[in-house]
Amino acid sequence: MHRAEHPEIMWGLGLDPEAVAIIGDSAGPGFALRNLPPDAVAWMRGEEGQSQAAWIPLDVWETLPKSRRKACRAMDSLRRILVVAEGVEPMETEQVLSEGFLTAVRAPLNRYKVRDALLRLRELDSLSADLRRKTEEVMLERELLARKSNHLSFLNRVLSRASASLDAVTILTKARTDLRHLLPVDVFCAVFWNRDISGSGLEAEQYLHCLMAPEEHAAWQEVLMGAAERLGGAGVSDFRQFFLTPGKHLRQTPLPGSGRLLMLPLAAGGESFGCLALLTQKGLRLAKDQVQTLNAAVNHLALALRNALLYRQVKSMADHDGLTKIANRRRFEERLEEEAQRHGRYDQPLSLILMDLDHFKRVNDTHGHQTGDAVLRGTASLLVESLRSSDFPARYGGEEFAVILPNTSRDQAALLADRIRLRLEGRNFGECKEEVRLTVSAGVAALAPGARSRELVSLADQALYLAKNGGRNRVVVAGPESGTLDLAEPGLAERGQEPAACGAEGVFQETGTDAERRPLRMGGTL
Ligand code: GH3
Ligand code: MG
Ligand code: MG
Repeated sequence: MHRAEHPEIMWGLGLDPEAVAIIGDSAGPGFALRNLPPDAVAWMRGEEGQSQAAWIPLDVWETLPKSRRKACRAMDSLRRILVVAEGVEPMETEQVLSEGFLTAVRAPLNRYKVRDALLRLRELDSLSADLRRKTEEVMLERELLARKSNHLSFLNRVLSRASASLDAVTILTKARTDLRHLLPVDVFCAVFWNRDISGSGLEAEQYLHCLMAPEEHAAWQEVLMGAAERLGGAGVSDFRQFFLTPGKHLRQTPLPGSGRLLMLPLAAGGESFGCLALLTQKGLRLAKDQVQTLNAAVNHLALALRNALLYRQVKSMADHDGLTKIANRRRFEERLEEEAQRHGRYDQPLSLILMDLDHFKRVNDTHGHQTGDAVLRGTASLLVESLRSSDFPARYGGEEFAVILPNTSRDQAALLADRIRLRLEGRNFGECKEEVRLTVSAGVAALAPGARSRELVSLADQALYLAKNGGRNRVVVAGPESGTLDLAEPGLAERGQEPAACGAEGVFQETGTDAERRPLRMGGTL
């Protein structure tokens, strides 16, 4: 056997001197044999990670107490070689192995027998090492498969949850939850951009993690603006903000510089349209497969978000009038129905104003269609400026407009209609030296309990008809009972009178039946 710097220890247990000599000689200088007495108190001890040979005569083994034999068998690093004396009945191989011996050698020992036993020991060592390596490989493979399967199910979850919605806030809120399964996400924000009307700047939409304190808000806003300008290639001219955790101001939102900030661009169809900003732990290092999974997830999200933005754009186009940018008639009818149902459920007042520009045709005839269009756009802006955010203006037809007024009584609606009438009357829609002035007539109605939305429209329409017939530039209010109409005195709002107090003669004049509802005398002056 090889000479080693530190000879390998071999143990003997109660070997006779002759056996000790033969084993020692045959094994060579690479080994050192330590022979212990059969009843040795200090027991043979294998070293961690390295096997050692132990030569044990059969008669010694048979006299060992059961507990010692058991302890000996439990020592994996001790490779036991059974030495069977001459003339002793040889043990069956099966029994040798079941007693935990590597092999048995029969006395008289010689060089050949000793070396053969030691070779077997080496072979077993090498087999064990192979087995250990293979086991480690299998374990590693299994771990990799488990990781891969985790990543795949993660991606599947991100994809299915992102595609289940067409609302950007919902998609982003779910993505924030899902991404936390892949890496620790402390703050999650996003920004999308579009070219503005001029084409030289960007309109941005920022989606912030939550409501934040001013300092944190400003810091995150700067991060998102910076990303939009850098990736979008232009300055941000206008932006809107949304909050992923609405109404909740988390006690403290970490600042962008307090951890590792990952900026993940969103692109679809080769066009970059947004960016996610993820704040994770400082010094976080992602494994290669984590980076791949994150990229795949972001690609999925980009597609889902692009679809959501396109859907919103298409829906907005379907709901809005192209010229005035306010809601169109289809959306108006839908919204009125929704409000009417809500009115029924919560018993809150709901009013409607229908308006028609007076002699609008003359504007077209005198100043041209483009000016006519500008007047229509200007009228829509005037409506938007005059209303609360809960009110709903719409273009009802060519030069007709409607305003749905939830939680507004008929009298309040009449006041508002008159205020709009006056503002419009006072506005010059012309450009430069050109003067373009016009007036509007309006009909106001409130939804009676249990009535349908189309009855409300019909009532307001009748009132509008009366306003036109009554001479235009006025507001007529439909009476509380279906089929009766009140007259509103033009200029009411201007004088700050309360409609309730206006029941007095000459102001809101009840006309009684349909038969009496013809050219109506308007009280007061225009
Ligand atoms: P009245 O006081 O009785 O309401 O008279 P009017 O001239 O306002 O009403 P009329 O129904 O006779 O004419 C409405 C005009 O509105 C006719 C139509 O060409 C014009 N119009 C409708 N839609 C548009 C539009 O989108 N742009 C422009 N410029 N004109 C429009
Ligand atoms: Mg009209
Ligand atoms: Mg008109």
